[in-house]
Amino acid sequence: MSQTKYIFVTGGVTSSLGKGIITASIAKLLQARGFSTTTQKIDPYINVDPGTLNPYEHGECYVTEDGAETDLDLGHYERFSNVHTSQANNVTTGRIYQTVINKERHGDYLGKTVQVIPHITDEIKRSFRVLGETGDYDFVITEVGGTVGDIESLPYVEAIRQMRFELGNSCVVVHLTLVIYLAAAEELKTKPTQHSVKTMLEAGVQPDIIVCRSEKHLGENIRQKISLFCNVPISSVKESIDAESIYDVPLLMRDEKLDEEILKKTDMPLANFPDLTNWERFLKKLKNPKGTVDIGLIGKYVELKDAYKSILESFIHASAENEYEVKVKTIHSETITDDNAADLLGGLSGVLVAPGFGQRGIDGKISAIRWARENKVPFFGICLGMQCAVVEFGRNVLGFEDAHSTEFNPETPYPVIDLMEDQKKIDDKGGTMRLGAYPCRIEKSSKVYKIYGEEDIRERHRHRYEFNNKYTKDFQDAGMLPAGINPEENLVEMIEITDHPWFIGVQFHPEYKSTVARPHPLFVSFVEACIKHSKSSE
Ligand code: GLN
Repeated sequence: MSQTKYIFVTGGVTSSLGKGIITASIAKLLQARGFSTTTQKIDPYINVDPGTLNPYEHGECYVTEDGAETDLDLGHYERFSNVHTSQANNVTTGRIYQTVINKERHGDYLGKTVQVIPHITDEIKRSFRVLGETGDYDFVITEVGGTVGDIESLPYVEAIRQMRFELGNSCVVVHLTLVIYLAAAEELKTKPTQHSVKTMLEAGVQPDIIVCRSEKHLGENIRQKISLFCNVPISSVKESIDAESIYDVPLLMRDEKLDEEILKKTDMPLANFPDLTNWERFLKKLKNPKGTVDIGLIGKYVELKDAYKSILESFIHASAENEYEVKVKTIHSETITDDNAADLLGGLSGVLVAPGFGQRGIDGKISAIRWARENKVPFFGICLGMQCAVVEFGRNVLGFEDAHSTEFNPETPYPVIDLMEDQKKIDDKGGTMRLGAYPCRIEKSSKVYKIYGEEDIRERHRHRYEFNNKYTKDFQDAGMLPAGINPEENLVEMIEITDHPWFIGVQFHPEYKSTVARPHPLFVSFVEACIKHSKSSE
């Protein structure tokens, strides 16, 4: 294989321009030409990882196969490319400093003063190169979080300057900016873009390609202006128009020949026009649904759609697969009670109870589950959602008064969900949950076995509490089956109610593994059950 090429994606003018989607689209296009790619995210904050962050800060925490708690952009990378990411694919300032400080304490700097340049920038460059040095990839694509000009991203821009100097044509910088439309003047304005490129230049980095996010098409004159003021050929000025769906972006970037420009700049062969046949088929199904189905998402971060990003995307994959539009209605768990559940949830064809931590909204989740169970409405519980389903069944079917998870009531007489044994000695919060992929063996008589079509699966986890095996027999005898078990530690990973059309709870997070190429079977089957339910109640 030729030397690995490095693509850096930076952002200017403002955040939320969709850098993650552009990055994932570049990976998709290069992959569709037959190149191997991996995609990395830099987060300039000082947290070591986002695992301890509240979802209000940066949205969902995405978990990789190897158990890294990462930024949600890694979810986009996996959903687009269908390639697993790992701890090395998410770098934070906290992790960089932690490594450098550990080396300093170890005496590795041999008496030198440890400084931002070169020690922090060297560590940043090492983390850029670590994926390239595996020899597995033609391209390492690194998205730098934040906006150029932020104080906290300066060391990263400096490290990129050094990488370009060291690697020449094996390194390209794609700068995503905003071209603003001024409605009053009926004009697109390039000045903020010019300023953000100037900020890059002050730091010694000339972007090679400028991708302009815009709500209107860029005319030739605008492209020329940006080319002139930002020192790039006009072929390197690309438009990124607002898209109907994030899944349109790879096709829009193909039309703009963004991949071609990158290949030219890095002296890579242009052969093999990107083959996106399967991707186009997916989009066609997504955009031509045969009907719609309303599904409730019950959680406590309903005002924040990034908090349940992977779940919402998994529904989109399952929508396309079923050729049915899923309309997700987010409902705040704090608003639901046993008395109003029928009114609030009555029009829904299925209910998904979301993962989460902490007491807030638990009672509403339990009421929603009770309503779905008693009315035979499809129910899908993920992680905390499964734990609440166990609590609900314990209380209302088995008659275990005040049954609970010890996370919420340590004194409960029926601790049907309890802290895992090896969690009992843990004090530190960061990176200490049961994280990443673990095997699960599925009970052959179960519904989930039919759904997966196999006995041994691996799914990703992020939790401290678990079904309490002391009660397995009680639950099983009353009709709640432990349908999937971790064979090493005998942990219940899936439950289902035998006498219900679709009532499944999983201790793991299937949403992390759903991709465009491989929609998750549980989501596909759940949506199918909801469609069936909506038809039967018509
Ligand atoms: N709070 C629960 C636990 O730690 C559930 C976690 C989750 O939903 N990810 O076990």
